[in-house]
Amino acid sequence: MSTVDRVLIVGGGLAAVSLADALRSGGHTGDIVILSAEDHLPYDRPPLSKDVLLGRSGLEDIRLRPDEWYERVDFRTDARVASLDPDAGRVTLADGSEVTGDRIVLATGGVPRTPGGDPAVHVLRVWEDAERLRPRLVPGARVAVVGAGLIGAESAAVAAALGCEVTLIDPTEIPLLPVVGPEIATVLHARHAEAGIRCLNGGVESIERDGEFLRVAVTGLDEPVTADTVIAGIGIVPDTALAEAAGLTVDNGVVVDAGYRTSHPSVYAIGDVARRADEPRRHEHWDHARTSAERAAATLLGQDAPAQKAGWFWSDRHGSRLEGVGTMADAETRIVRGDAADGAFTVFGVAQGRLVAAAAIDRPRDIQAARRLVGRELPVDAAALADPATDLRKLLRARPVREER
Ligand SMILES: Cc1cc2nc3c(=O)[nH]c(=O)nc-3n(C[C@H](O)[C@H](O)[C@H](O)COP(=O)(O)OP(=O)(O)OC[C@H]3O[C@@H](n4cnc5c(N)ncnc54)[C@H](O)[C@@H]3O)c2cc1C
Repeated sequence: MSTVDRVLIVGGGLAAVSLADALRSGGHTGDIVILSAEDHLPYDRPPLSKDVLLGRSGLEDIRLRPDEWYERVDFRTDARVASLDPDAGRVTLADGSEVTGDRIVLATGGVPRTPGGDPAVHVLRVWEDAERLRPRLVPGARVAVVGAGLIGAESAAVAAALGCEVTLIDPTEIPLLPVVGPEIATVLHARHAEAGIRCLNGGVESIERDGEFLRVAVTGLDEPVTADTVIAGIGIVPDTALAEAAGLTVDNGVVVDAGYRTSHPSVYAIGDVARRADEPRRHEHWDHARTSAERAAATLLGQDAPAQKAGWFWSDRHGSRLEGVGTMADAETRIVRGDAADGAFTVFGVAQGRLVAAAAIDRPRDIQAARRLVGRELPVDAAALADPATDLRKLLRARPVREER
């Protein structure tokens, strides 16, 4: 059993809540204090760019945990941490008060990048962002979406469904290509045009106000795009301010080991803000917020870490669900299962005879199996993967090519 009595978590999102759950289910009976800068109880962020923008869900509908959950933890809203003293195991809040913990876990997420300060330029990260944006998405409104990644593409799809005139601008010709591969990325991108969205391939040079509207200058385009509202979906910057000021190692996120320990033995980091030193990239997905919390809890409690799973994400747009496991850029060959013309199909990425990535449109079962196969040292048979009749669960019974790590 753990010698850690009091765990102090900074941040009130999915990673923080998941850590509290994992600590309790792992047997931790000591205090858990969660300090959140927001003045709401934790809510789920993915619906912000989907059902919330569509007006189908309110804040109560997307709350992460029911009222009784808060009996198990000391959860404090409106509690922004201003500084961290790792050696003393102490944080100081913006109001000057101090809170201590045997271990401190940073779960501060990220801050969206924004291309301009005009009030008509919107980002989507917190409830208030969605609340501000939603009334602007009315029929006929001219909406320019900057960035066609996950949040940009979802917002563009929602705006189009609400009857806005949408222009989607991205410097890459076919967004998401490295993550999901060309077959899926091409179909996904084509769906924007099918939904009446004007897609522009170029970088945004400037966003300027011209009376009632905004002018968005795009590279290679003679006339700027005229918009009533701009939505920026150009990524986040991990919120590393506390860690940096406290002298922890930071490099595109708070750098952590496989147990989510930072460079200071008493401080951990999880979720969007953390970057594992043993992995090539930082993850900014819902599933990672949960799995990183589960692994950190195991480290804190001195227990075996749960099995390492490949990263999984989803994105909903134009009535379809995209899902991905791993990154297609890691694949040497790609195998298509199903027919792109049907709208629902899967692409598997294979390297050195094993599955390293998968992406699918509306094929949840394929992805369910892929989540168990990717990252395992199991040999995969290309013909079996390609054949829609193969039960992918059978591939899990193959013999390992090497001993599992
Ligand atoms: C609009 C939107 C749609 C998304 N859709 C998908 C999707 O479809 N699929 C998918 O896989 N992922 C999606 N994601 C990503 C997913 O939601 C995030 O990866 C996840 O929420 C990260 O959780 P987190 O707890 O690490 O960070 P966050 O949820 O950002 O939580 C961080 C918390 O820390 C608080 N904080 C920051 N600094 C301080 C401080 N100094 N003191 C106290 N508190 C502080 C913040 O206020 C915030 O409450 C989406 C994200 C957004 C924004």
